[in-house]
Amino acid sequence: MSERLAAGPDLDLDIVRFGDGDGPAVSILGGVHGDELEGVLAAYRIADRLASTHVRGTVTVLPRANPPALAAGTRHGDGDANLARLFPGDPGGGLSDGIAHAIATALIEPCDLLIDLHSAGHRYRMPPMCGFGAGGTLGGRPMLDAARTTPFPYLWAHASVAPGRSVSHAEALGKPWAYFESGGGGALREADIGRYEQGVLRLLEIVGTLDPVSFAGPPPGRQVVVTGGDGNTDTGVLFTTAGVFVSSVKAGDAVATGQAIGAVYDDGGRKIETVRASSSGRVMMLRHHLRVAPGEVAAIVAGEDGRAA
Ligand SMILES: [Zn+2]
Repeated sequence: MSERLAAGPDLDLDIVRFGDGDGPAVSILGGVHGDELEGVLAAYRIADRLASTHVRGTVTVLPRANPPALAAGTRHGDGDANLARLFPGDPGGGLSDGIAHAIATALIEPCDLLIDLHSAGHRYRMPPMCGFGAGGTLGGRPMLDAARTTPFPYLWAHASVAPGRSVSHAEALGKPWAYFESGGGGALREADIGRYEQGVLRLLEIVGTLDPVSFAGPPPGRQVVVTGGDGNTDTGVLFTTAGVFVSSVKAGDAVATGQAIGAVYDDGGRKIETVRASSSGRVMMLRHHLRVAPGEVAAIVAGEDGRAA
């Protein structure tokens, strides 16, 4: 059932609700960042799938969480506000504060599971991954076990989470949450969107809203589990110079402390900076767009869990 959620004087959010109301409530967000269309497209696919399936409880899908940013095609929305730093929002604040407040009150606070679909956007690349609150449980099992059923080759267990994200609000309320990341670089890949769809369906099975659904393929044989870091994409290995960036690793690669992950060149072709990993682990986010400036993030490296199966 389609509904409109008022997010401000001149802005409604289009949500779709499914289910018999007798069971857990799950909220699914796409398009919190306007250059991350994987989640938008996956959310529409999931809504299509749920429309012809019996859903126990309630599943609420918001494919386009940030209409101003999506209209502009940019990560940030109105006034260059990053919606993922504004939760739980403020009904008396700016447009983006109002969006955050509407989502927080209508979709996050009533839910038993929040799934927020992101991606690396125009400027970055990320390996296909499911991030989650390490302390959470879903359907009576640890979130790590739930995440292992998804088709993501990388799983990121967060012991803490930076404030302002949708998932931070869920965490503060003691609710389980997960977010997906992938691809990016300003391009869309079918494999990424398909993984999002299947990953959401898996988590809906575990929380009990869906009967086991047919799965396109088995989960990856080996899933890399990383820990450490709060998933704040504004921090990591930073550039100290301006120029063009040439990466020498891929998103998802294992790196050692001090290993070069790339270099910055000036317009005369001279190497002016070697960018090195400051810790060992997996490259969970890597700069894609070539022009870089001091203070911008080159990469995020998160420590690999030695117990990874
Ligand atoms: Zn995002």
